[in-house]
Amino acid sequence: MTDELKYKSAINDIGILLELLKDFRQSNQFSKAEDLINKNKHLLSESSELNFELANIYVALGKIDKAIEIFEKLIQNRDFDITIAVRELIKLYKIKGKYKKAVDCINIAVEKGNDNLDLYIEKIIQQRLIPDGKSAIETLQNLKKIKNNKSESFIKNIESVESSRQVIAPYRVFFTWGMHYQCNYNCTYCYAPKPHDITFDNNKNNKALYLSTEQLVDSWKFVFDKYGTSRIRLDGGEPTIYPNFYYILKELLKMHRLQINTNLSFDVKEFCDNSDPQKVRIDASLHCEYTKLDDYVKKLEYLKKHGYKLVVSYVAYPDFINNIPLAKKIIQSELNIPFLIHPYSGFYNDRQYPASYNEDEKNIIYNTDYKSITELTWRAERKGNYKPRFGKEKDIKLTEKQIAENESIKQMKQIENKNDNEFKLCEMGRMYARIYPNGNVYRCCAYDGNTYLGNLFDKTIKLLDRAEKCYNTKDCRCWRCMIPGEESRWLNTWMDDWEISF
Ligand code: SF4
Ligand code: SF4
Repeated sequence: MTDELKYKSAINDIGILLELLKDFRQSNQFSKAEDLINKNKHLLSESSELNFELANIYVALGKIDKAIEIFEKLIQNRDFDITIAVRELIKLYKIKGKYKKAVDCINIAVEKGNDNLDLYIEKIIQQRLIPDGKSAIETLQNLKKIKNNKSESFIKNIESVESSRQVIAPYRVFFTWGMHYQCNYNCTYCYAPKPHDITFDNNKNNKALYLSTEQLVDSWKFVFDKYGTSRIRLDGGEPTIYPNFYYILKELLKMHRLQINTNLSFDVKEFCDNSDPQKVRIDASLHCEYTKLDDYVKKLEYLKKHGYKLVVSYVAYPDFINNIPLAKKIIQSELNIPFLIHPYSGFYNDRQYPASYNEDEKNIIYNTDYKSITELTWRAERKGNYKPRFGKEKDIKLTEKQIAENESIKQMKQIENKNDNEFKLCEMGRMYARIYPNGNVYRCCAYDGNTYLGNLFDKTIKLLDRAEKCYNTKDCRCWRCMIPGEESRWLNTWMDDWEISF
């Protein structure tokens, strides 16, 4: 019988059904696989393996709640290797922000005699994601009793992160430092401010200040003395083309931990000679208008070989969605580097995205990075608030008068919200700040004029002492904004690397 016939008729042999499902999964035909199981539901009660398969298909289709339901049943099943189901459940609970549930299911696995080291480590990671994180300390003490290379290196990592935190709040501050506006690429979908936009570099108030390297390092020393070791995301434009970049990098690494948001156009050997994989994470973005995938992959391989933690992100711009499966196959499946998709927010052919993605496009995005569904939904829901920054056309330059008008509209909006008492508390400004190329520090990047917190270069920077009211929450498009009570959305996106993966 051909596979097509088997697909149409009822199947009574679990082995054959599992083989067919495997084929569908390998060719990314998840909806067909789901249909096939539904047609042969009678076999589900006979096979845990088939249930496991169905749960994975649900994951691929973004039906996370249904997948959780099956995995939860599987971990109660004596005949099944529950460690595999626990691992899958943990990933799904993480997506849902249900960290306590993840801990509970690890406890079930441990009770059933699966007390392997990886589970203890995962338990600590999950406990750290629960806002008070207290029970993680107890688990850590237990882990210390287990002596082997893996446990010792994990403990060393934790202790090094802990010792670089401040004793009093904010324990660690995250900064995004837009070093300058220049970039050696000019991507179609670029959101970063460009030198030719009068609103930014050409505006005398916002012009990038290129201080001497000594002055720059001294400014960051001031931050170190005041707020301890911080995590600084170097951004731009392209940070690696900043004058004397490697000197600045080396000096900052003596005080802070860095994340570099880069298009990876730099010379990787020179980079490795001047950097430290223990203190730098590379957030690389792949821009297929400017980079050949082969060359890009070679650079990733080199950096990975030299011990760098890497994440690659890709903007799902409608013209470039079809490149996603191949890029993911090589980067994530073969090199084992996380490959994240950011849904495109903006206009394309007069249609607003991400709300206008068709089903095929959505499938490609979800199948590549199923976490993207949460971000996609979040962004699509806010489409009513989305306004193109400079109008729909690229490269529109605003006049001084238009800039002034825009600014006053923003201010009016805030005054209106204030009058209507429409606010939320937000931790941004206390635990996070955005620094612009002129050194000005703001509470966040979602809104240029939000709350001014001084200037980095003249050492007037002063963070907020507590979560403060924000009157811009209705328009806030920040996916990672730190609203107390909504930690399940944002907390894990700000954790140190050791806390979310091992
Ligand atoms: S590499 Fe990044 S900053 Fe440069 S043009 Fe492309 S999207 Fe913009
Ligand atoms: S709610 Fe949004 S706009 Fe307001 S401070 Fe937080 S991140 Fe910024």
